Amino acid sequence: MPKINLLSKELSELIAAGEVVERPASVVKELVENSIDADAKHITVEITNGGITSIRITDDGCGIEREDVATAFLRHATSKIKSESDLYSISSLGFRGEALAATASVSRIELFTKSRNEDMGTHYVIEGANEVLSEESGCPDGTTIVIRDIFYNTPARMKFLKKDVSEASACAAVVERAALSHPEIAFKFIRDGKLSFSTSGDSSLKSAIYSLLGRDFSNSLIEVECESSGVEVSGFITKPVYCRQSRASQYTFLNGRLVRCGTVTAAIEQAYKNTAMVGKFPGFVVCVKVPFDSVDVNVHPAKTEVRFADEKRVFDAVYYAAKNALALLDTRPVISSYKNDNAINRMSTEEYCQQKAYIPETAAEKAYKTFIEKPVLKTDNTSFLQRKDVKDYIQKSESVKIDKVDTKDQEVKKETDFSETQSFPVLDDKQEEIVYIGEAFSTYIVAQKQNSIYLIDKHAAHERILFNNLKNKVNIETQTLMLGVSVRLSREEFDAVTTNIEVFEDFGFEIEEFGNSTVLVRAIPAMLMSEDVESIITEAASSLLEKGVPSVEKIDRIYHTVSCKAAIKAGMHTSSGELKALAERVLSDNEIMYCPHGRPVAFEIKKRDLEKQFGRIQ
Ligand code: ADP
Ligand code: MG
Repeated sequence: MPKINLLSKELSELIAAGEVVERPASVVKELVENSIDADAKHITVEITNGGITSIRITDDGCGIEREDVATAFLRHATSKIKSESDLYSISSLGFRGEALAATASVSRIELFTKSRNEDMGTHYVIEGANEVLSEESGCPDGTTIVIRDIFYNTPARMKFLKKDVSEASACAAVVERAALSHPEIAFKFIRDGKLSFSTSGDSSLKSAIYSLLGRDFSNSLIEVECESSGVEVSGFITKPVYCRQSRASQYTFLNGRLVRCGTVTAAIEQAYKNTAMVGKFPGFVVCVKVPFDSVDVNVHPAKTEVRFADEKRVFDAVYYAAKNALALLDTRPVISSYKNDNAINRMSTEEYCQQKAYIPETAAEKAYKTFIEKPVLKTDNTSFLQRKDVKDYIQKSESVKIDKVDTKDQEVKKETDFSETQSFPVLDDKQEEIVYIGEAFSTYIVAQKQNSIYLIDKHAAHERILFNNLKNKVNIETQTLMLGVSVRLSREEFDAVTTNIEVFEDFGFEIEEFGNSTVLVRAIPAMLMSEDVESIITEAASSLLEKGVPSVEKIDRIYHTVSCKAAIKAGMHTSSGELKALAERVLSDNEIMYCPHGRPVAFEIKKRDLEKQFGRIQ
């Protein structure tokens, strides 16, 4: 057995540092958290060469008093907790008293700090955990800390660093998250001398999202807000159509701290069931506040994981916040020809608003607006007059030269120009009606309502209607099968079906046990064909057997299977009467937005966008 040695102070500190300081981004995280804990209103983070050469963090927080400076760099030195009971009710981001000590042991640190109570501040230098300088110095209120040559004394660690670019992106991500979690603080991130991003600190989460995550993401969001049994939930989630392939745009902040939290993610994703596409994930920035003593943040050295005293309470509050927000959604996805420009995406809100203010309204736009506001044109028999008025109005305000047209031509135009009349916002009663235009590719219904054209996926629409009927037990009719259909199942499937017979009876099935793992289906919902029976029963059985799925969800899946089988199919012939009825139902019922798998049922094309596309207006 080799001899047992007591490790030197330096070596044991290096081992401890390894837990906290893994790469420059971990230093940035700890130091930014210190600035937030110090109640700073402005925090600037500057890095060079991915933070490997230097990291400088400047804040205008409370500063460190002269006599405490050296202590702050010792292990287990913290001003944030005093006793064990404080540990169970933590309101600050830091509390372990490790970050400064750990960072000091693997780098060269220079600190300038001054608390408001003192006239003079402190200039302090510490290298590899050894104090090099401590002197009085004139400095502004707050703290500036510079970390140079990280890992200069631990070449083994240095080897694990990635390229400067990757380290820089990791630092940027840390500051981005800190800025998202604290919209009341103005952040600046400067990379190799260039301002990379900044937030205004105006306390609006939406404007922080806009500045940091871009315009497209910001525009895809709906607000969530809910308070239930001591759990406050606020923030934003994406509309179902904007769900993405990965979970990369999910941010959970618990009491102002970015955490990975399976409970919150699961609650939000559960709320999208039936609206988001299978295999896609919602994006969100959600802030959850719980009483400090109902959460344990001391379960992970980097404090990114938490444990709740009452997980279900948190799950429920988040679930209902998201579910309620989604239920209020009543707009359909719009097909717009005006895709957002990428340069705009990265603009801060302020820059965007400034730029927008400088785009002058075109004469046509003004004319169009004034015209819409003019509620004059009502009666049916004045359509030619209306058309002339509108055209005159727009042409005059654009000062376009009107060519002389001979009267005969004008008469002909009068007869054939109906479609053009429709393209102006003439306010007559007919516009309220749903006009069935036709069907494209034997799949998409084309219909018009008010100032929009809608493309409706006939299968998705029908499936959604049937699904809603099944779920709400509306229009459920049963057809008896003369001979009955026997379905052979596995032992497990058989048990699942026979113990849930009343679930099936609820929407029109009659099922009997037939022995030997076989069931006899005597009646089925009228919407189904008898040849679908076997596949429906086996699919339903496998839904029932799925592990870890709540039973309501299992039943929903059975409804999906049935409605999908019963719905009209894309590519197949459907009578125009049926298509018209479908269009009318879809466009008059805001509940029919997404098919049960989360695909959109209809897209809207706004008349205004068409007019822009055709150059009728600008
Ligand atoms: P912790 O944050 O867990 O307390 P740290 O090692 O990060 O431990 O910091 C030690 C102490 O130094 C803090 O408790 C705080 O009192 C002080 N401190 C660190 N950074 C700052 C800062 N930017 N402004 C004011 N005080 C700071
Ligand atoms: Mg700290």
